[in-house]
Amino acid sequence: MERNDDWDELREWDRRHVWHPFTPMEEWCDPGHQPVFIVQGRGVMVQDQSGRWYIDGNSSIWTNIHGHRHPVIDAAIRRQLERIAHSSALGFASAPAARLARELVSLWPGGTLTRVFFSDDGSTAVECAMKMAVQCRMQEGHPDRCGFAAFDLGYHGDTLGAVSLGGIDVMHGRFRRLGLPVRRVRSMDELEALPPAETAGLAAVVIEPLIQGAAGMKLWPAGMLRRLRSWCDARDVFLICDEVMTGFGRTGRMFACHHEDVVPDFVALAKGLTGGYLPLAATLTTERVFSAFLGPREAGRTFLHGHSYTGNPLGCAAALASLEVFRSERTLEALPEKIDLLRRLLARLQERSGSRVTGFRQCGLIAGIDIRPSGVPGAAGRAVCLAARDHGLLTRPIADTVVLMPPLSITTAEIEAAVEAVEKAVHDAA
Ligand SMILES: *Cc1c(COP(=O)(O)O)cnc(C)c1O
Repeated sequence: MERNDDWDELREWDRRHVWHPFTPMEEWCDPGHQPVFIVQGRGVMVQDQSGRWYIDGNSSIWTNIHGHRHPVIDAAIRRQLERIAHSSALGFASAPAARLARELVSLWPGGTLTRVFFSDDGSTAVECAMKMAVQCRMQEGHPDRCGFAAFDLGYHGDTLGAVSLGGIDVMHGRFRRLGLPVRRVRSMDELEALPPAETAGLAAVVIEPLIQGAAGMKLWPAGMLRRLRSWCDARDVFLICDEVMTGFGRTGRMFACHHEDVVPDFVALAKGLTGGYLPLAATLTTERVFSAFLGPREAGRTFLHGHSYTGNPLGCAAALASLEVFRSERTLEALPEKIDLLRRLLARLQERSGSRVTGFRQCGLIAGIDIRPSGVPGAAGRAVCLAARDHGLLTRPIADTVVLMPPLSITTAEIEAAVEAVEKAVHDAA
């Protein structure tokens, strides 16, 4: 802990000047609210300004994979820092970006997703896929194929293109007028019922494969992704898979798509890409899409899109190290036991909760635990998460669903401690 920090003063500066994301700021700024400062982390634990340690129960908003301060990732970033922190991918190449692109491609069946476009976060990775899909259609001679279909309750980020895809009314409803044309459907059945005249105008369908995160960890039926792939193939509609949350082992396999042997036309990666260390994102796509952008400069087929920090070398170095840790620690091989334990503990939690836990959903090491609502919607979920802090667990609810999504490096003992903290919190908050 930084002995010199004056937490009262810092709290005041935060209250006066920091606008927090997804946060009702009147409540946050209330003098009665004492925000927790996270000062350091180690493994799955994070420490606050008073010296208390907590399990990082939502992986620092779904990003962390191998724990905090992992020696391999720390060292890789330091090594890169001794060379250069940032250089531009616009007009120049960098070794970390070239290596990482090659490794990301190798995580998919040979020759399928072969091209990698780097950006900064999940929203930009999704936007890149959207713009590439539309421009590709134009350059293939189908400028009318510029629409998108997306699923009700979907979440794809907070920039305007991604917001147009979003299907969560409280977040996305008020911005509808500004958005792109998007046909929202609730299910495969609804998608399949769309008239051909409408589907002919689609550039792509966008989905969070297997599980919709921000919807409250809502699971798709098994086989749905494969059915969607066939639907897209039959109509030559691109499939964009948003694996921003599900990527990098979260679901038990490296990618959610792997569970159903599906290869999308675009996949958006971000959160866990750097092991949860640095903001970096990637949009992977096929040779078919890439080749639509080739031609003489004068033909104007270039993808005129990029960000200042595209392919940032520090981020790429962290991502390469994270993939190395997946291999050296056999991260994926250790998951089935942890996933199974989590399932058993959550079932027991519900059983013992005296109906205060009304259900739970799990996909790999992602879990949503439904708390029986009390009064205002969301109040019960918030109360449980707040109470969990006193039992050494930090996490966040989505409405009345408590999210448990620890780093993949969590041990079985730490999983037991995390679920026990939820159980105690459920009782405290009742
Ligand atoms: C978090 C998330 C995003 C947005 O990513 P940011 O890095 O926050 O922009 C997009 N899609 C999904 C599925 C996400 O979970």
